Amino acid sequence: MTSKKIPEGIFETSIYNFQQTAKRLKLSDKLIARIMEPKEKIEITLNPEKPDGDYVHVKVFVVRHNDTLGPSKGGIRMASDVTLDDICGLSMEMTWKTALIGVPFGGGKSGIQFDPTTVSEAGKEVIIRAFTRAVLRHIGPEVYVPAPDMGTNEADMGHIRDCISYSSGKSITQGCFVTGKPVILGGIEGRREATGKGCVYTVQAACQKMGIDISQTRTAVQGFGNVGSVAALEIAKLGSKVIAVSDVTGGIVNEQGLDLVALVDHVNVSGGIKGFAGGTDVASDEVLYVDCDILIPAAAQSQITAQNADKVKAKIIAEGANAPMTPDGDEILYAKGAFIIPDILANAGGVFVSYLEYTQETQREQMTLEDVEQRLYNRMFKRFGEVYDYSQSKKVSMRDAAMDIGVQKVADGIIARGLLP
Ligand code: GLU
Repeated sequence: MTSKKIPEGIFETSIYNFQQTAKRLKLSDKLIARIMEPKEKIEITLNPEKPDGDYVHVKVFVVRHNDTLGPSKGGIRMASDVTLDDICGLSMEMTWKTALIGVPFGGGKSGIQFDPTTVSEAGKEVIIRAFTRAVLRHIGPEVYVPAPDMGTNEADMGHIRDCISYSSGKSITQGCFVTGKPVILGGIEGRREATGKGCVYTVQAACQKMGIDISQTRTAVQGFGNVGSVAALEIAKLGSKVIAVSDVTGGIVNEQGLDLVALVDHVNVSGGIKGFAGGTDVASDEVLYVDCDILIPAAAQSQITAQNADKVKAKIIAEGANAPMTPDGDEILYAKGAFIIPDILANAGGVFVSYLEYTQETQREQMTLEDVEQRLYNRMFKRFGEVYDYSQSKKVSMRDAAMDIGVQKVADGIIARGLLP
């Protein structure tokens, strides 16, 4: 096992991955400095009053890391422990992700430092609206376009859209201010499922390259939210046996394959995996270590580290979450021969379909679910193929290949625009 070199946060992971890439690409110091720093970094404190009359004290963050290739794009993370540093790291990841998947956006991210599970829906709406009013001047179709991320969902994006058009006194806005909205409000069919499905398409593509029959594989999924639950259902459709799943409430293992439809029903009723009768209860992180072919970490950041990477047995790991692996954890698994599909590729399906929503709204037309799914499938396979070919020809990992391609595109964009403002 290698010794631990750097701290284990999203920010440190993102900076480390960028610095390694900059070295491989031999970027000039001037360019490195220009790319590393976020373009805009905002922290605001709010004290909105909830419907029960209580005030809450909430810090919110917006970071626009880069806008070389287009307006900054990235979700809103709502969690009690989210920090400005996390948002800087995640925002930087969005810059490479949008460049790699090939959509005309830069990278951005926002954070709301509040645990959404502690308030009613109405209470959450108050916080979301307070956030929107506070950051209004930093949002816009040509500036920063938010979307859902951990702790936020379609309904929240609907409130944001309403708050923005209400503030301008108009029924609609000119252009797309937020993606991941309810379809009735200009959202796009298939956006909610896009990240989980896109992640599975990259696994499918990996299996094809490696000569693995996906219908003979066993999969474990960490996280059963928007990404993990969709990924589990989608990979099961391809015949893989999903034998282990976890969320914050616990983990469940069934060597015969879990009944995912029953599990989704259980989670919808009880709020979590805990108590599901169709398997053996295990601790949440045990799911990372089960004997399986495919592992999809789709929960939080920094789950696989130098401390536990040697316990992971999967041959293919597709990062459904952002930064679920620290660089040290990654190094151990790569040395063991695991095929790791990095987050900026594996979970880019979400932002790709956000781009379709953005264009749909700009052009005021409707795309069908079939169109969306076909385009998502084609794009994920195409980009996977490019990253795979690069990794083979340069003899680097899939992570390094994805980072090289994403960072190089941003560097090329900066040079094409001109280095001086
Ligand atoms: N939050 C998602 C991500 O990390 C989606 C971002 C978006 O659609 O803008 O990729």
